[in-house]
Amino acid sequence: MKIGILGSGQLGRMLALAGRPLGLTFSFYDTPPNPPISDLGPYFNPDVDEDALSKFIDANDVFTYEFENFLPDLAQKVAEKKPFYPFVENLARSQDRGREKGLFTELDIPVPPYQIAQSQGDVQKAFETLGVPVVVKTTTMGYDGKGQAVVRDLSVADTIWEKFQTEVIIEQFVPFRRELSQVATRNKRGDIVFYPLVENFHHEGILRYTLAPAPGVSAELTVQAQNYVRRILEHLDYVGTCTLEMFETEDGLFANEMAARVHNSGHWTQDGAVTSQFENHLRAIMDWPLGKTDVRCDTAMINIIGELNNPLQVLEMPGTHLHLYDKSERPGRKLGHINVCADSQADLLKRIKDLQRFLPACAPALEA
Ligand code: AMP
Repeated sequence: MKIGILGSGQLGRMLALAGRPLGLTFSFYDTPPNPPISDLGPYFNPDVDEDALSKFIDANDVFTYEFENFLPDLAQKVAEKKPFYPFVENLARSQDRGREKGLFTELDIPVPPYQIAQSQGDVQKAFETLGVPVVVKTTTMGYDGKGQAVVRDLSVADTIWEKFQTEVIIEQFVPFRRELSQVATRNKRGDIVFYPLVENFHHEGILRYTLAPAPGVSAELTVQAQNYVRRILEHLDYVGTCTLEMFETEDGLFANEMAARVHNSGHWTQDGAVTSQFENHLRAIMDWPLGKTDVRCDTAMINIIGELNNPLQVLEMPGTHLHLYDKSERPGRKLGHINVCADSQADLLKRIKDLQRFLPACAPALEA
């Protein structure tokens, strides 16, 4: 079977790498195509061929995407002709933080108090109602901390509007204990598998590393997280892998954001779980049985950001696996990740510390 992927970044690369052993082949649609997929299948580029989209659709049996900041009508065009998962409606919803928070509220999933603002007056009103600190985010096109600001001073409403000049969501700042995420996969026949809750460490809005499983998670917290994600998946009749990012607070979990696709906080599953999030996404969209999500070892996923720093050196350390994306160095850019496995959480923490010297961009988060 042939899988068509909208997008050509590292998530597409890792989907293809997971799918080839299952006998699946891949092609990609993007403008311009990115290096991560250059050796993994043909790509279709509308900049050089005006029929690229129809050729891409004809060339494949089942479609998915790896980057959701696409024009929804592009996905719609594909979905009108061939199976496209997750559904287009999900794509539009997860592209808009306002609609996403509305969905969580509708499904009784706690979120931080928030308001949507479309003018300077709205921003002022939101600041007065919510108080400070607040987090201001563009409702669309934001990722990896782009298009956001933390505001601690009520008097900056006018400068905030000047800075964004587009619809924003203003959320109360959550004094969280830690950030957790729940990765899960649902297939067409409605089976759902859950990975364990993982703990995520961000710095400047970018995920630096993930600990899997998250240390010290109670059975109650696990059930709460799974219930929230189950509600979302069933409500949307979702097919594929999905991630819910949450804040753990003294009052339980608050949903922050949903990724309606494979996600960076699930990359540890490539080496630390029986079946990776990528393989399960493909099994789901093919309506094949889902793979087990059991943990094989305590695992940390550490992003390589900005600089590569001779990454092969990390292979000297026992239990490390290197995943490079074939991208050139640029500040803030995700170039690859390292999965480190250990037999105990104590050993894992020691190995993470040892890795610091290879990863200056991660140091602030690793020291936390
Ligand atoms: P997001 O793009 O919504 O995932 O936000 C990126 C990061 O900013 C999150 O992982 C948090 O570390 C932080 N953040 C976002 N929203 C809030 C909030 N309401 N309260 C506190 N921190 C937040």
